[in-house]
Amino acid sequence: MSIQLGSNKTCLVTGGAGFLGSHLCEELLERGHDVICLDNLFTGTRRNIEHLLDHPRFEFQRHDVTFPLYIEVDEIYNFACPASPVHYQHDPVQTTKTSVHGAINMLGLAKRVKAKILQASTSEVYGDPQVHPQPEDYWGHVNPIGYRSCYDEGKRCAETLFFDYHRQHKLRIKVMRIFNTYGPRMHPNDGRVVSNFIVQALTGQPITLYGDGSQTRSFGYVDDLITGALKLMDSADDITGPINIGNPVETTVKALAEKVIQMTGSHSEIVYRPLPHDDPLQRCPDITRAKTLLDWQPTIALEQGLSKTINYFDKLLSANATKPKSTSAA
Ligand code: NAD
Ligand code: UDP
Ligand code: UDP
Repeated sequence: MSIQLGSNKTCLVTGGAGFLGSHLCEELLERGHDVICLDNLFTGTRRNIEHLLDHPRFEFQRHDVTFPLYIEVDEIYNFACPASPVHYQHDPVQTTKTSVHGAINMLGLAKRVKAKILQASTSEVYGDPQVHPQPEDYWGHVNPIGYRSCYDEGKRCAETLFFDYHRQHKLRIKVMRIFNTYGPRMHPNDGRVVSNFIVQALTGQPITLYGDGSQTRSFGYVDDLITGALKLMDSADDITGPINIGNPVETTVKALAEKVIQMTGSHSEIVYRPLPHDDPLQRCPDITRAKTLLDWQPTIALEQGLSKTINYFDKLLSANATKPKSTSAA
């Protein structure tokens, strides 16, 4: 990733010890900013930010965004929220609180200190989409009372809050709709498809394919996502989003399983499991806005990104296998 040293800012990254947040903290430090990483360590781990803890411009605060926070910052990246369906459905009430109360607190903070604020929203706001690929002006097809609703509706309400603070209080907002993103530092037990398949393939366990595997997703590599987030934050104030950030190359989940098996040289067999409730059948971003407004598009192809991710998990699993069990825990 290119490094552009800009004017020094104090950036708050909520969810900074998570998969995406930790990469964002790292890149913001590389660009010369001060970084406050805030996380309650629900799905994030200290291991993700261990290498940053001694950095003079890095600070970690254990805090839950559903509680108010009084600090001084220039920019807020609001990434706190479990993202894996398994994790966000574990305590659905807390998931909605994290999205909604978390957004209110971070918007209240942005309002008080006049900070610019970016929301990590999601392609899940489109639900099980009936328009394909999904442009930002599609309002979505979301079940308001299902198992995924705590996440989908929580994120939709957060978007509402962002636009109301923008209209009512003139806040400078940026709303980014992230499509399935993968890469190093996903939690090995995260439950999402890329990490599941790679860990299963590397450890010789069966590959768990939900449904018949014909549902599609569009997978983006983490480095592209971080570049997109930084471009959006740095864009002109009238670019509020929402803006889709994702890789428009669509693949079936079955094809992903086969690719992972082939790339790892694994002998794992594919086993079929029931499709989870309300699992979207198709998902693919229309990235015209990101291309036009941010001059952004993904640069890392699926095979290339998978290869880096397989390499990461291979090293992680080998290191854990040689350590006593207690030290390998999250
Ligand atoms: P992750 O689970 O690795 O990271 C989320 C982080 O938020 C974790 O470190 C977790 O401990 C922290 N967190 C959760 N609840 C919190 C709370 N109440 N207070 C403080 N911290 C809290 O997931 P991720 O993939 O890194 O996702 C980061 C953000 O990006 C999330 O908001 C997610 O909704 C969004 N997103 C991610 C994807 C993706 O494919 N990775 C897709 C769409 C949206
Ligand atoms: N808040 C915060 N930090 C701040 C300012 C506000 O966490 O620096 C929280 C606080 O809990 C508040 C919420 O953000 O209730 C919304 O703030 P706002 O000023 O919009 O509304 P208020 O509820 O204070 O009228
Ligand atoms: N999936 C799967 N096997 C797994 C995990 C997930 O077949 O072990 C499927 C899941 O049903 C969905 C897709 O892969 O269709 C993506 O799932 P993930 O949880 O990664 O993210 P989602 O896009 O559903 O939020």
